Amino acid sequence: KTSIMWFRRDLRFFDNVALSKASFFSEKIIPVFIFDEIILKKLKNKRDRRVQFIFDSIKEMKQELNNNGKGMIVIYGDPVVEIPKMALKYNAQCIFTNEDYEEYAIQRDKLVENNLKQHQIEFKSFKDQVIFDKNDILKSNKQPYVVFTPYKNEWLKNVNESYFKLNSFDMNKMMPIESIKDDLFNFEMQKIGFQNTDLLVKPGRKAALNCLNQFSSKINLYAQERDFFAKNGTSFLSMHLRFGTISIREAFQFANHYHSEGAKIWKNELIWREFYKMILFHFPHVEKGAFKKECDNIKWENKEEYFEKWKKGLTGFPIIDAAMRYFNETGWMHNRLRMIVASFLTKDLLIDYKKGEEYFAENLLDFDLSSNNGGWQWSASTGCDAQPYFRVFNPEAQSIKFDPSGAFIKQHCPELIACDSKQIHSPYQYQNNLFVNLKNYPKPIVEHDKQRLKAIALFKK
Ligand code: FAD
Repeated sequence: KTSIMWFRRDLRFFDNVALSKASFFSEKIIPVFIFDEIILKKLKNKRDRRVQFIFDSIKEMKQELNNNGKGMIVIYGDPVVEIPKMALKYNAQCIFTNEDYEEYAIQRDKLVENNLKQHQIEFKSFKDQVIFDKNDILKSNKQPYVVFTPYKNEWLKNVNESYFKLNSFDMNKMMPIESIKDDLFNFEMQKIGFQNTDLLVKPGRKAALNCLNQFSSKINLYAQERDFFAKNGTSFLSMHLRFGTISIREAFQFANHYHSEGAKIWKNELIWREFYKMILFHFPHVEKGAFKKECDNIKWENKEEYFEKWKKGLTGFPIIDAAMRYFNETGWMHNRLRMIVASFLTKDLLIDYKKGEEYFAENLLDFDLSSNNGGWQWSASTGCDAQPYFRVFNPEAQSIKFDPSGAFIKQHCPELIACDSKQIHSPYQYQNNLFVNLKNYPKPIVEHDKQRLKAIALFKK
């Protein structure tokens, strides 16, 4: 039997559930990746870091196959048309793939499956992205959880070693390179309408394993250090988990070797990832509006001028500006900073969280609809199990607590380089006794204390 293995957000061979099943059930496997024109045409920025990450990761996969005399088909097009076409051309009887939980992907896969059915070709998809998916962890009344801690407790109660078992595959079954006729794709970003761009995090499988390896010296300190962004105490694995250059089972297996509080808390973060995926599946309205529907009535001020300043890192709040400038440069932001800038946008600038969510969605290298939406709705107090609306982060206090020396701020706001560790968090308070000329750095665009009260009033109303 010949099968097609259709890679999407699972860009690895090892511990890939669908590939492992294909290996078991087929004599020959044709690995395929399609640059989905429907997704790519929607991307405004033609130097998109995500496309570069995928591109480089695929290149590495292809190289590994080629080193073994095997090939991979990489094309650009609409999978609904291309997958059935390819199956017929190569006489494949089955398509293997891993399940995707986002609405667009669900609908696309249904269409692919229907088209294949007309030719009696099977479509099989497998759980791979998560340990537990949409309906695996439910309350005793079969309803989804909407609060994280009981979800996590149930998750931990249900899990056992068998869920972390790693899946192998058989390289010998992959299609020999000479049998692959129509790999139209000649490894140039221009061919899919994009330009090359630099990446902060190295793409590909080798880089993912490197990241994991480097995190082994940090995981035991994760509980104490994870919030101090200048210390780089987190794993930087979010893009790798997003594009599947590492599997979720590998991440858990790695963490299970450690018995520290740090490892326990890190695993909780991986469970948050599954929690938000489950929420998006059961409450698809969150893609368009607030989880708490009454929050759709909030009359955000939505001042365009403030939004532009937030995006560019010109708010006059050093921690916000440093975080946003770093984000614009790299496409990545530390979790604590994501929470601080999201809280600031919504509760200090009184701008609809959806605008910030969209800006992140366009620019985040690790963009994942469910986690991004969950993170924004948590920060804006509109989500399930969210930050209460009356708890408003004070940007200066957050800055003093999590960047005490101002090292991070100084890296990204060179205008403030001469400030000392006291002045750096709100330099205009000290403008009279500063030896620094602040004229290059903007004045704060709002007063936190006033805005905080306005935000609380908006929510109450
Ligand atoms: P670590 O601290 O090493 O955590 C390990 C892994 O756990 C991460 O790689 C990630 O997969 C998962 N994780 C950690 N924190 C969370 C969380 N709060 N929610 C869900 N999963 C989590 N994460 C994304 O992967 N994609 C997004 O688009 C995204 N958008 C966010 C938007 C906002 C406003 C906020 C507040 C958070 C967002 N997060 C998102 C969650 C979190 O910020 C990132 O996962 C984390 O910063 C990635 O860094 P890391 O890999 O070093 O994380």
